[in-house]
Amino acid sequence: MDQLAQEIIADLKSYLEYLREMGIESMTASEERPKEVFLNSSLLPPMSPPLEEVRKELGDCRRCKLHRTRRTLVFGEGNKKTILMIIGEGPGYEEDVQGKPFVGRAGQLLTKILQSIHLQREEVYITNIIKCRPPQNRNPEPDEIQNCYPFLLKQIHAIQPKIICALGTFAAQTLLKTDAKISMLRGRFYEFTPLENPAIHGGDINKSSRRVESTTIPLAESSLRHRKGEGKAPSFLTGLAGIKVVPTFHPAYLLRNPERKREVWEDMKQISNWMVNNNNEASQPVGENRR
Ligand code: URA
Repeated sequence: MDQLAQEIIADLKSYLEYLREMGIESMTASEERPKEVFLNSSLLPPMSPPLEEVRKELGDCRRCKLHRTRRTLVFGEGNKKTILMIIGEGPGYEEDVQGKPFVGRAGQLLTKILQSIHLQREEVYITNIIKCRPPQNRNPEPDEIQNCYPFLLKQIHAIQPKIICALGTFAAQTLLKTDAKISMLRGRFYEFTPLENPAIHGGDINKSSRRVESTTIPLAESSLRHRKGEGKAPSFLTGLAGIKVVPTFHPAYLLRNPERKREVWEDMKQISNWMVNNNNEASQPVGENRR
């Protein structure tokens, strides 16, 4: 057997081991093509394309109806080498005007929330599930999320955060593929499982993304080891395995329900503690290489 074939088999073996670690014990062979574009592995390039390339590919996006009513496409901004990524729902009025995420009232509150765990906005990367403002700030629709999701995946792939804070219902449900309520989801650690269609919500968090009771479960450990180069991860999943997702309430919700701020504070403290315990470089200064 030539070396390439051996490498492919070794990669496949470690991919199957990865799936087993994720709780997938069996697979059915099917002649059907995967239905959804999200199963297409071309969405997960073997090498992380730089963020600039992802932005270029998104271009003057007209993939869904939101392009007709938006003023500006809001891609995201912040530290491209951060270990903490913040993902909200979609741009509102101010964001649409300025072309930056979270710059309105909810954004100002987000800045304060980050400061409460001693992080400056510029130290993290902030983006949204959808990149264009829906008319009258209505909820994002499934086709809009579906069109944007491949680009969000590529953003995550380019940045390779270790932990994602999902703000609000849409971010949490999309990233975790569930219909569960944010009040049920918040404050817990989940493994990010990117290879699924975000438009198909499982409805049961136990059947979709895996909840992590403790951050020291084997998968988390092995994934983090892979990322430090101590083990061998399948090349096409390197950088996406082992990312944690912690949902919390959206700052806009907090503006209407300030009594829930305490819960967000608790969730943020958990994120902060995790960063301290799992990464000495908790937040890499802007502009410095962490890899
Ligand atoms: N709400 C969001 O979800 N994202 C923004 O960028 C602003 C408000």
